[in-house]
Amino acid sequence: MICQDQPRERFVHLPTPLEPAPRLSEALGIDLLIKREDLAGLCVGGNKARLLEFAIGSLRGKGVDTLVAYASDQSNKLRDIAAVAARCGMRAVLLVPGDGHGGEPPQGNRLLFDILGAEVRVVAPGLDRAGVMAAQEQVRDECARAGRRAAVLDRMLDYGVDATIGYVDAAEELHAQLSGGPAPHSVFIAVGAGMTAAGLALGLKHLGSPARVVGVCISSPAEEVAPEIERHAARAAERLGIPTRLGAGDLTLIDDQAAIGYGTLTPPLVEVIRLFARLHGLVLDPVYNAKVARALVDEVATGGVPKGARVVFVNTGGSPATYNYAPLLAGGVAPGRPARASMAAG
Ligand SMILES: *Cc1c(COP(=O)(O)O)cnc(C)c1O
Repeated sequence: MICQDQPRERFVHLPTPLEPAPRLSEALGIDLLIKREDLAGLCVGGNKARLLEFAIGSLRGKGVDTLVAYASDQSNKLRDIAAVAARCGMRAVLLVPGDGHGGEPPQGNRLLFDILGAEVRVVAPGLDRAGVMAAQEQVRDECARAGRRAAVLDRMLDYGVDATIGYVDAAEELHAQLSGGPAPHSVFIAVGAGMTAAGLALGLKHLGSPARVVGVCISSPAEEVAPEIERHAARAAERLGIPTRLGAGDLTLIDDQAAIGYGTLTPPLVEVIRLFARLHGLVLDPVYNAKVARALVDEVATGGVPKGARVVFVNTGGSPATYNYAPLLAGGVAPGRPARASMAAG
């Protein structure tokens, strides 16, 4: 086990299922398996649930009683931080830019923050990385003055390494589930900041898997995220003490849909959400996994994935955001205009 020496606290149900999808396989002409990270447990599953086992494992011995993080007001990361804080008897202070629900009652993940008992603070919209770090550090200092010990969960800090290690662990789990069967041609996964894809690709490379990892960029162009992925993988490999590193050829990045923007739901995405729902009973989140599914279907159509190939789709969760897009997803009507940017999730 690559990650066996890492501090870890158990919250989620592992291994997550690797599920055959016969009706989708038949429709697409491939042999599709879905890795159900959305069923990991904690609050409503997803990739953040698994990685928080390592993040909290690193923090628990240090007397931390408060978790501080910044993200969008539909963030899956913030929702799972709120959930894990509740599970551990900690406090969560969540910083979100602006009030994205325009005075209406909050929906989706933002509603769950409240139900889970997190303290939500609205900070100025449009902060750059330095501004985000400063806002988080301000909360940490404020906690210290009140005699509390806060940890900032930000990808620039240990959280970025823990997130990557979480998916090295997932890679090992997936590799074991695939052993004995036909070799997978490719593994499709969403790329936001890139820790999840970095960990998956690093783990599979380290294990000698023949599968091509295909990262589908959600909002940043490939040339921006590729060096980040290599950096995340290198930091994780260093902590794990393994010699494997990721290079340019180890991950295929597809960024056709990055330019439509974070959280923008277009008619081709609505179409693929309905396809997966109606042929597998699986509702993909509109922000991340709908784009991954779109890229997969398009790759099959253009021959990037050959007919009959065994393909793994890693469903990283994020379903609460669905409820924030009701006007575009309801009924059988053709979707109209793209969603407002403020419907963005994370
Ligand atoms: C955060 C998130 C991702 C992306 O993870 P990164 O490590 O930032 O690339 C993918 N899918 C869902 C549902 C997420 O919430």
